[in-house]
This record gives sequence, structure tokens and C-alpha cells, in this order.
Amino acid sequence: MKLKLRRHAKSQSEKNSKANGRVTAAEMYRVQDTYVRFNQKDHIGSQMRWDAHLENEREKLKDKQRKLAEKGRAGFEAPAWGLDSAADSLLTIMGFSKNQADSRATAWQTKVEPAPTGRPEISPKEGSQIVRKAAQVLGADQVGFAELDRRWVYSRYFDEKTKKDYPIKFSDEPGYEEHSQPIRLEDGTRVIPKEMKYVVVLLHEWGKDIDGTEHAPSLLTEGLSTLAYARMAPTLWMLAEFIRGMGYNAIPAANDTALSIPLAVDAGLGQLGRHGLLINPKVGARCRISKIFTDLPLEFAGAVDSGITEFCNACLKCVPKCGTKAITTGNRSLEALNEHNSTGVLSWKVDAKKCMTFQNRVGTTCSTCVRMCAWTKPPRRIYAIPRFVIRNFRWRWLNKFWVWLDDRAGNGKFDKKADDFWVASNR
Ligand code: SF4
Ligand code: SF4
Repeated sequence: MKLKLRRHAKSQSEKNSKANGRVTAAEMYRVQDTYVRFNQKDHIGSQMRWDAHLENEREKLKDKQRKLAEKGRAGFEAPAWGLDSAADSLLTIMGFSKNQADSRATAWQTKVEPAPTGRPEISPKEGSQIVRKAAQVLGADQVGFAELDRRWVYSRYFDEKTKKDYPIKFSDEPGYEEHSQPIRLEDGTRVIPKEMKYVVVLLHEWGKDIDGTEHAPSLLTEGLSTLAYARMAPTLWMLAEFIRGMGYNAIPAANDTALSIPLAVDAGLGQLGRHGLLINPKVGARCRISKIFTDLPLEFAGAVDSGITEFCNACLKCVPKCGTKAITTGNRSLEALNEHNSTGVLSWKVDAKKCMTFQNRVGTTCSTCVRMCAWTKPPRRIYAIPRFVIRNFRWRWLNKFWVWLDDRAGNGKFDKKADDFWVASNR
């Protein structure tokens, strides 16, 4: 049945994209005019901070983790514990919380002296070249650029210290026109200057191979995914200071301030998968996303359709392996399952509460869906062939054939011998 879609008012970013022949995430996921910006308070990561019941439940995860480590469960051995602790220790030293805006690595104001030469006049092309190089030098695995679509910025941000949510406004909204710098006002409102209409999106991989992902759900896999945050935090911090050092404004953000996945889609870094995660054509869902809003001019090419939606329609590999049925077998929908999803975006909705409850039960952040995902592939050239075919030929039977081949190759199979990870890394 064909979905009847309502016409919606075009945003500035959509009008610009039409003029330039670019595709946006909002077009790809048919964002409706009924769509309202997401409140960060409704993100499950935030809810764990203000909902005492969920907070207590989360404590069970660490308890379970200790018990499994004591029992000597594969993937919970001392080296896995050490890896997770090592990654966490850096985040603790940096005071980094992936969900907190304007705190240390995500600070909205500079700690460095801007270049004495003043802000250089640079073209969007030069800006992109400079920032891309800086991002690579400072440790990003992939980088993309986008025009900021304000629909992806949270309507309100959640402050972990006060456990309350406050508005995010732009300086072209009435009453906020005087602000030309990113700022937090006395009543907690944050203002983003209207000139900050560009976004740098960064990806950090969980390790440099799929090695370790095949042990999910385990502490080893969780350690690798935490390590991606530990690598992201310094890059994010330094790249924001790099931009400010050049005399421009920068707002670095991890999971705070805006929805990361649609921004990554707008930056051409992937598409949304059935499991609710970004699928990057090269590394699959085995990556963490961060972003920097800036007024430094950047050149952007728009979203890239790599055939991932059609592939997910045919695949479903992640569905039966999700131990709590949080991933749907159905079609994409405009309706939210609950307060943790957006309404008015044509996407697969994952039940975040079920997912979190399951994570607490298995004593890790799970990631079985990442392990199972047909896009979780080692960085081998051979995989360029299916990627090319999936992108250019949207035939269901062919996508089914790739899934069959993936199964035959044993990809996504749970590997119980997590000890091998440490031996293999010494080869
Ligand atoms: S992380 Fe685990 S529980 Fe959550 S959606 Fe993926 S497979 Fe399901
Ligand atoms: S396992 Fe298959 S259906 Fe699930 S997200 Fe990955 S490609 Fe899509």
C-alpha cells in the first residue's frame, strides 16, 4: 500500500538543497510538517538521569557485569574489564559525558587565544579542506560536512546537573537577536547564533577491524565501543578549539544538543538502519558520531543514498537475534512507538526501553545488532563489490542473495573465544 504523505512546508535547508540538486536527510526520511523538534529529556540516556526507577535499573548492569566477570564468562575476562576501565578512565579524567552540552570537551566557549592575524577570509571549499585535514590529524576516522537543518537540533536540552530541560533558541528568533556568540542565558536557555549554519560530522570506529564486535554481547565489545568515545572526546575538543583558534565560533557536541544520525546522513556519512543506528557503507554501525556547529564556511555535497534502506527491507538479519524484540520486522513508519522516538519521520523505530532493559539483564551495552548487521565488515577491498552492487541495483532478490551469502560466510556468528582477541592483536 502506498503511503499518503502530507505536503510540508519547506525548510531553508530544503529550499537550498533543491536549488543545488542535493538530497537532505529530511527528504530521504520524508519529514512531515507535523514533526516537532525532539526534546533531549525524552532520550533514554537522559531519562536514566531523571527517572529514579530507570536509574536504579541501570545499576543492575554493573552488578551483572561483576558477576559475569567473577564467573569467568567469555568476553568478561580481566583484559576486557581492563579495556573498558581504561576507556572509561580517560572519559572520567576529561569529565566527558556523552549527553551533556557545554561541559569540558563540549564547551561552547574557547579556552585558547584566537590567532592574532584575526579571522581569515576563506571560501567554503578552503574551509572544508582545512577542517577535513585538521579532523584527520586530530584523530577522526571519517569526516563529513552539512548545512545545519535546525529540525535536528533538540527543542530543549537536558542538563544532568540540575536534571531539568531548557530551550535551545537561534539568534534570529524574537528576543535573542543580540547574541552573536554561543551562550547559555541565566534562565538556562541556550542560544545558537544564526550564522552557525554549518556542521562538521565526525565518525570514530570501534577499533580498526570488526575484531571484538563478534563477541557481542560482552564486556570486550562494550570496551571497544567505549573506546570510540574515549577517542572521540579529545578529537572533538581539539577540533572545536582549532576552529576557534582560527577566529570562528564552534559548538562541539557528542549525543547532546542535536540528533546525531540525521546530521551524519546530511553529511553523506551513511543512512539509518533497521536497528536504529547509522550504517556507514565502510564500517557499518561500528562507529560513534559527534558533531561541531560552526560559522566557518564549509562545502557540502548532501546525503548519499547507498541503497541501505532497500537492503534493510530485504535483510532483517538483526531482528531475530535481538533478545528483546526491540527491532521491528515491519516497514518504516511515521508514527513513534513511544516518547523515545520522533513522530513524522519515515523510519524504523526501535524500542529503546526494551533495549535498555535487555542491556541491564546481560550486563553490557549489548550491540548484538551491530554484530549481526550485514554491513559490519572488515576493511577489505573485496567488500567494495557488494557495496557497489547494492548502491546501483535495488533488486530485492539480489539483496536477498547478498544476505544469504553473508549467512553462508558465517558473518555475525557469535564467537565464544574472546581470549583470541588479545592473541590475534599480537600477530
Ligand atoms: S543493542 Fe541488543 S537489545 Fe538493543 S536493539 Fe540491539 S540487539 Fe536489541
Ligand atoms: S542486519 Fe540487515 S536489516 Fe538489520 S540493520 Fe543491518 S542491514 Fe539492516
